[in-house]
Amino acid sequence: KTSPQRYDAIKYKTPTGAALNCKGWIQEAALRMLLNNLDPEVAERPNDLIVYGGRGKAARNFEALDNIIHALKVLENDESLLIQSGKPVGILKTHKDAPRVLISNSQLVPNWANWKHFDELEKKGLMMYGQMTAGSWIYIGSQGIVQGTYETYAAAANKHFGGTLKGTLNVTAGLGGMGGAQPLAITMNEGVALIAEVEEWRIDKRLETKYLDEKYTSIDAAIDAALTYKTAGAAKSIGVLCNAVALLQRLIERNIIPDTLTDQTSAHDPLIGYIPHTLNNETANALRQSNPEEYTQLSYQSMYLHVQLMLQLMDKGAITFDYGNNIRARAQEYEEKNIAQPQNTVDALSGANDFELNRCFNFPGFVPAYIRPLFCEGKGPFRWAALSGDPADIAVTDELIMNMFPHNTGMLRWMKMAQEKIAFQGLPARICWLGQGERELAGMAFNELVRTGKVKAPIVIGRDHLDTGSVASPNRETEAMMDGSDAVADWPILNALVNTAGGASWVSLHHGGGVGMGYSIHAGMVIVADGTEDAAQRLKRVLRNDPGMGVIRHADAGYETAIATAKAHGLDLQSNL
Ligand code: NAD
Repeated sequence: KTSPQRYDAIKYKTPTGAALNCKGWIQEAALRMLLNNLDPEVAERPNDLIVYGGRGKAARNFEALDNIIHALKVLENDESLLIQSGKPVGILKTHKDAPRVLISNSQLVPNWANWKHFDELEKKGLMMYGQMTAGSWIYIGSQGIVQGTYETYAAAANKHFGGTLKGTLNVTAGLGGMGGAQPLAITMNEGVALIAEVEEWRIDKRLETKYLDEKYTSIDAAIDAALTYKTAGAAKSIGVLCNAVALLQRLIERNIIPDTLTDQTSAHDPLIGYIPHTLNNETANALRQSNPEEYTQLSYQSMYLHVQLMLQLMDKGAITFDYGNNIRARAQEYEEKNIAQPQNTVDALSGANDFELNRCFNFPGFVPAYIRPLFCEGKGPFRWAALSGDPADIAVTDELIMNMFPHNTGMLRWMKMAQEKIAFQGLPARICWLGQGERELAGMAFNELVRTGKVKAPIVIGRDHLDTGSVASPNRETEAMMDGSDAVADWPILNALVNTAGGASWVSLHHGGGVGMGYSIHAGMVIVADGTEDAAQRLKRVLRNDPGMGVIRHADAGYETAIATAKAHGLDLQSNL
């Protein structure tokens, strides 16, 4: 049988309800979450199997997708399916508590770990880019990132504006799979969001899902509206159809200084993810095909200018941070290669030599600025989905979580707003940040809900790879570690190993997520609460060990909060005995 060349909504519809298509609930969960990742309500470009984050895919091609679906249906309860960069390559005998699926995506030997080599392999059909939750089958649409973005802006509000963004102008760019969460996260913190996006359909998609309030095609009209809302103290979000560079240039010309400034274009991927300001969408698409090298060069030039404009606004007072897309590194790479050697400077950036050198990293990443203190407590993006497909099941879990952790006021505020404002995409799902101790209690309680029939089918629990102990990414999650261990990648590998040993349902190890090839190694974990005693034991182990790895990693680096958290939760820190 031949596989389709594009997404087939009937064939790939996510099964729901309590009946199994596979030989066990864990395989069934993997099947449903894989298909859910590709659901057009969830995925950015299902016809290309792209879920989010530039070219983050769930399966290598449609043939591989069909083969994975088949493999999951025949997979026994004492076997494990091996996925190599989005393609099933074998089924091996393991045991009932082993992961049913083991995934490795986009791994390259370090000396070859760059986009150029990856692109060659991808062209030959030998690899795919898994991003983070795309290739590990636990993406739940923009809600997943709304929570993280909400936490970041809440932390920024606490640090700089007395706990609220009310009356502040927050400028950023990119309304893609992840970036689309920015407008809602900003308005949930009561601020005004002004966001540049070059593709109109992306703006429309965010309007449809109620993540964004308004669309403008004129930059000046968008700025004027944003300023009116700022003065009125209204919480409103505006998407403006333009290049990020054009918006920042206009803000500088009009001497309007945002209160916060960041960016979530897919700068991690200069060829596919970032659109240079010197091209419109049509010319960009054509040049990407006809001359990828020229495209990449234009992309780098544009990102360099983009960062310089951010620095100018920072100098004038905007609180500026990198939002995890590696744009600072791109700018620095460009500067080192071109500007620092003036004979190479390209005409399109005339005036580039006027910028002061070595400033590309002068604004911090969002993790050291706002998130690391949470990581030290084992806190991170705990998420779950109702395999029944019934939103009522999520309502039951919401209630349970709010009753279980009444002291966690930040989480309670988020849960109430999420219930009100988040439209589900695909399988109903929820996310909230929980820390060491809380996650295992929540997992066990969900298992009880399933066992006692209070929900209609099992619950699948997972997390982003952007978590406390699962990632090495020196320009993002592990930027500026206290002991200088930013680039040490033993930690995510230990994380994947310990989750495999503990009996997670599927475990994945990825390279390049968030920041691109060569810049990160990270691990994913998903575990199913199917109401059985075996699941209870596995949940207890995995949901203790997984955040525990983060606490241990930060304690090892010398963070006092992490050492205290380890002591409070009885995590055995050998090195500190
Ligand atoms: P995406 O590819 O789905 O969306 C990127 C968007 O940027 C697209 O809509 C594109 O049209 C737009 N864009 C590209 N160049 C532009 C330009 N010059 N001006 C205006 N708009 C432009 O990607 P995504 O999933 O939204 O992720 C965005 C970036 O954020 C990625 O680099 C990703 O790795 C990073 N990221 C950050 C976090 C975090 O927590 N901070 C988490 C995940 C991903």
